[in-house]
Amino acid sequence: MSDIDPRTVLLLTGIMGGLMSLVLYALKRNYPASIKGLGEWSAALLVLFVAGLLVVGRDKLPDLVSISVSSFLLWLGLYLAYVGTQRFFGVTSRVAPWMTFITGLLLVQVWFTLVEPNYHMRLILTTVMTACLSGVHAWLVFRQGSITFARALAAGVLAFLFAVQVMRLLTSFTSPLPVTAEFFDTSALQLIYITSFAFSALLFSISTVLMATDRLRIELEHLANHDSLTHALTRRHMDDACRAELERCRRHGRSMALLMMDLDHFKVVNDTYGHQAGDQVLINFVARVNALLRGPDQLGRFGGEEFMALLPETSLEEANHVAERIRELFAVADDEPLCTVSIGITTKHKDTDTVDTLLARADAALYRAKAKGRNRTEAA
Ligand code: GH3
Ligand code: MG
Ligand code: MG
Repeated sequence: MSDIDPRTVLLLTGIMGGLMSLVLYALKRNYPASIKGLGEWSAALLVLFVAGLLVVGRDKLPDLVSISVSSFLLWLGLYLAYVGTQRFFGVTSRVAPWMTFITGLLLVQVWFTLVEPNYHMRLILTTVMTACLSGVHAWLVFRQGSITFARALAAGVLAFLFAVQVMRLLTSFTSPLPVTAEFFDTSALQLIYITSFAFSALLFSISTVLMATDRLRIELEHLANHDSLTHALTRRHMDDACRAELERCRRHGRSMALLMMDLDHFKVVNDTYGHQAGDQVLINFVARVNALLRGPDQLGRFGGEEFMALLPETSLEEANHVAERIRELFAVADDEPLCTVSIGITTKHKDTDTVDTLLARADAALYRAKAKGRNRTEAA
C-alpha cells in the first residue's frame, strides 16, 4: 500500500473529474433546457478539480491556500453537486443555511490552520462537513421514487462516501494521530480515505451523466408517444397498445373495449371562435376525459378532433357507462364554446378480432351516433 502515492491518485482522478466537468458542460449545452442541474454538476466537478490541485501543491503553496482555500473549494464543490441534484429532481434548494454552515466551519478551519495549527481538528471539520453533504445528498437521490441503475449508482457512491467519512472521523479518535500526522500520510487508513474520495467523485460524475441520459430518453419517448397539442397518446402508440391488449385478452380470455369519439360540429367552433379557441377545446377535452378514465385506460388522438380510448378488462355494459359519462361531461358543461361529443363503442367479440376490425366497428357505431343527431353514444 505504501507504494501508492496519494498525490498521484488525487492528481489523476482530479484530471479525470475535470474532464467529466467538460462532458457535463457539453451535455448542458446540447440537452433540452428542461433537464436541469447539469450546469451545477459541471461547476461542482470543476471546483473539486481546482481543490484537488491545491491539495496536491501542499508543500509549494502557502497553508492558507493549500489547506483552507482547498477545504472551502471541496465543501463548495460538494454543495454545488448537491444543488445540481436538487435542481435535476426539481427540489427547491435553500442556499443561505448551507452557505452559513460552510462559512462558519471555514472560519474555524482557518483558525486551526494559521493561529493554532491542529491537523486533528481540521480532519474533524472536513469529515463532518463531507459526511453531512454526502449524507443529505445520498438521501435526496434515494427518496426520488423508482430506483434506476443510474440513481442506485449515485445514491450508493454518496452513501459510501458518507460511511468512509464517519469511519475516518471515528478512527481519528480510537487510533490517535501522531503529532507529526499529515494529510499525505502513507498510512493505509489515510490512503483509503483519499482514494475513496477521489473515486467517489469520479463515479458520482458518471452517475450524473447516466441520470441525465435516462431523463433525455424518457423525454424523447414522451415526445414520440404524445401529441404535441393535447398531450394525448399518438395514434401509433394507440395501435401498439391495442394490439398488445388484444393479445392479452386472447391469452387470458379477458374482454376489452374501444371508444371512438368525435367532437360535434367542431368546424363551427373554429369558424365562430377562431382556431386558437378550437385548440383550447381539444386540450380541455383531453384533460377532462383523462381525469375521468381509470389508471390503465389510455386516451389517444386519432387525428383532428377525433379521439380513441382503450379500456382494458371492460365489458360492453361498463364501456357504455363510461362513454355515457364522457358524453354527459360535455353536454352539460357551461364552458364557452360548448362542444358536445359523439361516441362509438365496441368490445372484443372473438379471438380473430384485430385492431382494424375493432376500429372499423367503433367507427361504424360513431357514424350511427352522428347520423342519429350527434351528442349520443352508440354501441356496435
Ligand atoms: P361533425 O359533427 O360531423 O364531426 O362535424 P365537424 O365540424 O366536427 O367535422 P369536420 O370533419 O367537418 O371538421 C373537423 C374540423 O376540425 C375541421 C378542422 O379544421 C378542425 N381541426 C382538425 N384538427 C384541428 C386542430 O388541431 N385544431 C383546431 N383548432 N381545429 C382542428
Ligand atoms: Mg367532428
Ligand atoms: Mg371528425
